Amino acid sequence: MHIHTTKSDGTYSVRDVFEKAKKEGVEAIAITDHDTVGAVEEAESVCAEYGIEFIPGIELSAMHGSKEVHIVGLYMDRHDKDFRETLNYLQKKRMERNEKIVKKLKDNGVSVDYDELFEMTENINTAGRLHLARLLIKKKAVANIKEAFNKYLGEGKAAYVAKIKMTVPECVAMVRKNKGIPVLAHPSKLGADEMIETWAKQGLMGVEAFHPDHRFEDSEKFLKIAEKCDLLVSGGSDSHGGAKDYTDIGTVKLPYSYFEKIKKAAGKKL
Ligand SMILES: [Zn+2]
Ligand SMILES: [Zn+2]
Repeated sequence: MHIHTTKSDGTYSVRDVFEKAKKEGVEAIAITDHDTVGAVEEAESVCAEYGIEFIPGIELSAMHGSKEVHIVGLYMDRHDKDFRETLNYLQKKRMERNEKIVKKLKDNGVSVDYDELFEMTENINTAGRLHLARLLIKKKAVANIKEAFNKYLGEGKAAYVAKIKMTVPECVAMVRKNKGIPVLAHPSKLGADEMIETWAKQGLMGVEAFHPDHRFEDSEKFLKIAEKCDLLVSGGSDSHGGAKDYTDIGTVKLPYSYFEKIKKAAGKKL
């Protein structure tokens, strides 16, 4: 219920995603690219070929204080006009952010050309930090993705630029207005457990208990929180393709019964 493609910062094409999911015996997948539903149309047209159920999704960013909170929206309707307008706005802001990061990198002695970034991505509208990290590796400025984030791109580092600030309730409201299911992504990375109950009261509908960054105890903890706050349970590999291999498709699967509950909540037939 959480996969990225080349339409955002993943390295798998839509077909790669389905091939891989088929190989791993996954029965249903959601593609959840950052700030875009660019992969949804193709996914909808090829899913039947693979016999895999497809859920149109998105991953949005909100801010809580200085922390970036990711909200996955499941069962999003890409035809909704207001939703499309908001996405266009977010993409414009994303471009402005990239320009600022490139400038900061330059100030720190790493010269990155905007055109080079353009070559790294299929869809420049959704270029992000992971693309920049790959570019830094290519330019031998860093050895790997981790170093790129620790040295330059991560929160508080030399070339960090915060994303546009939607609050969590705003983000949740945007998903619900579209009749989608808002889910708190990778909550352990966030470390704001105490906020989950409040967000649930403000309309959040689910939480990712299963994620490659979660140890067994983390999953147990978020399952308990979900039960306490009456939230749906979601999860997935958060695959970005081969770039972060411990998150490849199939490494983390959501038990089917949890998926059925999400589906039911979205008003879909089981
Ligand atoms: Zn995320
Ligand atoms: Zn993600």
